[in-house]
Amino acid sequence: MGFADNDIKYLKGVGDARARELAREFEIHTFRDLLYYFPFRYVDKSRFYRISELHGEMPAVQLRGHFIQFNTEGEGARQRLKGVFSDGERLMECVWFSKVKSLANLYKPGVPYVIFGKPAEYRNIWSMAHPEITPYDETSPPTGFTGVYNLTDVSRRKGFSTKAFNNLARNVLTHPGFSTMTETLPPEVVTAYRLMPLHDALREMHFPTHPDRLAKARERMKFEELFYLELQILRYSRERSLRIPGIPFPKIGPSFNKYYKECLPFELTVAQKRVLHEIRDDMRQGRQMNRLLQGDVGSGKTIVAFMTLLMAVDNGCQGALMAPTEILAGQHYETLRAWGERIGLRVELLTGSTRTAKRREIHQGLLDGDIHILVGTHALIEDGVRFRRLGVAVIDEQHRFGVAQRARMWKKGEVAPHVLVMTATPIPRTLAMTVYGDLDVSVIDELPPNRKPVTTVMRYEEDRMEVYRLVQRELNAGRQVYVVYPLVKENPKLELKSVEEGRERLAGIFSGWQVGMVHGQMKPDAKDEQMERFLRRETSILVATTVIEVGVNVPNASVMIIENAERFGLSQLHQLRGRVGRGADRSYCVLMTKRNIGGDTRKRLNVMTATTDGFLVSEADMKMRGPGDMEGTQQSGVAWSLRVASLATDGQILNLAREAAEKVLDARPELVKNPHAVGSRDADHLTLSDASLNILTAEMRYRFQRDYDWSMIS
Ligand code: ADP
Ligand code: MG
Repeated sequence: MGFADNDIKYLKGVGDARARELAREFEIHTFRDLLYYFPFRYVDKSRFYRISELHGEMPAVQLRGHFIQFNTEGEGARQRLKGVFSDGERLMECVWFSKVKSLANLYKPGVPYVIFGKPAEYRNIWSMAHPEITPYDETSPPTGFTGVYNLTDVSRRKGFSTKAFNNLARNVLTHPGFSTMTETLPPEVVTAYRLMPLHDALREMHFPTHPDRLAKARERMKFEELFYLELQILRYSRERSLRIPGIPFPKIGPSFNKYYKECLPFELTVAQKRVLHEIRDDMRQGRQMNRLLQGDVGSGKTIVAFMTLLMAVDNGCQGALMAPTEILAGQHYETLRAWGERIGLRVELLTGSTRTAKRREIHQGLLDGDIHILVGTHALIEDGVRFRRLGVAVIDEQHRFGVAQRARMWKKGEVAPHVLVMTATPIPRTLAMTVYGDLDVSVIDELPPNRKPVTTVMRYEEDRMEVYRLVQRELNAGRQVYVVYPLVKENPKLELKSVEEGRERLAGIFSGWQVGMVHGQMKPDAKDEQMERFLRRETSILVATTVIEVGVNVPNASVMIIENAERFGLSQLHQLRGRVGRGADRSYCVLMTKRNIGGDTRKRLNVMTATTDGFLVSEADMKMRGPGDMEGTQQSGVAWSLRVASLATDGQILNLAREAAEKVLDARPELVKNPHAVGSRDADHLTLSDASLNILTAEMRYRFQRDYDWSMIS
């Protein structure tokens, strides 16, 4: 029992009753819990800053100076007040979005003021939104640099103000025992990564002395949090890679070779070839492959999947490809059957609507080994489906499947098959390895040649005729058009467009053309039939909800119109846009939106018009929303376990923390349960003392109490 483990009730100023409140309201039970309960923001009124000193990581700060002028911009709800502020040296901008009129009368140019707020930089100009403004008074000096704790109304009523927290934090930090508290990171790591030592960092977190020191303290605490997260993830994945053997695929055989030499429908891109090498190397090892393949819409993941399945076939195994919808499974089936036919492979399709007789035939074919590749939906993982020897399972559009479903796929054979998960919603590499834990990552970062980027524009209601002229022109040229709506039916409460309304309207305007419709409330059969008709070009316009988002391939479609685009998330918009531009022709994505949209929404739509690169879109998406919201990452729960670090914005620290965790495991393989074969891989390695090993095990026990593996330290 060290200092940190002391029951909080023994802290000066706490006692039994308050200890109960701290436990209930804040989950603070020990001295350490209190020390790790950090302010959620900071207020720096210790001094006046100059505009030339501002930088991006600053808390709210104060500046002294005067306004040069005020301007009112915009109309109605979009009205805003802008003030140009001078500190006598440089200029910055203050912006207000509400109470514009009264504020414009309140503040006067030329009068000395103190402005207080969080600075932000945009296009080399510093600005503050809604700063606090007080007249400057020489007799009232600055009042210090303080943290603000996250309090609820309940806790405030019970006397837990920021001031109360300040007092408690001071009582722990000045306690004679504080200096005996053990470092939570191995000193070797603290030194190697030039981190602020724990004691300094904790003091600075609660009682900051300078923005730069606070930034270092926060960096240290974020690093610590991410380091232990990575350590835990890596321990599991190293252990797993030793425990689960995987089927070795020693050879590249006739199927792969014949297809590669004689049947490729196109030259593979460099990225496709590289990824195939990575996959091949993985599966040769005799350990189970568990790989995430990230590639933008249209980057050509399907052929990579197919050739991966061929590697299984060449080594006496079968392959499976699972897709999230019947439509998508059907399309994959058509593609793979055509490709497979040329080298004499039998490919079958199994979905929820496969008839009983056919289903029986497939079950038999799988057991006999007559079927080489099985394509399908969830139906693939039902209990009745048994393979003779499943070697590789490919899962398309990962975010539609949970981890549990992946695990069921593994259980399809005696030995777990290799698993390749494909997604068109890319996230940075280390982040992917963190949220998906046990996956390696490959990336197709190149589109096939001759792709013309989809021309993307934002249009308003008054531009509708122009948009329809574009539709008419493309229809006349024999092309097809998607129109996507946020709602199925009209809803009087929401001012949104709906599919049903849209169909009537478009059928009226484009009376010479057939209009189809799909949405989530239709029966699967009816949905499929509508998709089929669009594929066969029997309908020229398809009105739809986001059900068409995933993977559907109609190369003849050249226009995607998204109504109420402001209602959709970035990755959703990007996925929808990916439905066009699949042929070599020029294609268009039109984001229809209200004129009156918020700043964040506008930013989101601007990302869409500025780039067609899925990696840039997803990076922007993460910055704006945080990865906790991103499709595919919710299930991981990792994002929610973090208190100081953010997976969205602390990518650099995350990379370092991962690297450190890898070095620590290399240096001390006994941290992995079954350490044999975990060799040192890094020349630039770390040496850790036994005392450091104790720190690591104690800290992991503290942080991962519930799933901590106690046998590890025996
Ligand atoms: P996604 O990664 O979105 O699943 P697909 O595998 O569906 O992409 O490929 C999109 C289109 O690009 C398909 O029509 C496919 O045949 C074509 N394609 C894939 N790779 C290449 C390539 N190397 N050269 C030319 N066309 C390609
Ligand atoms: Mg695809």
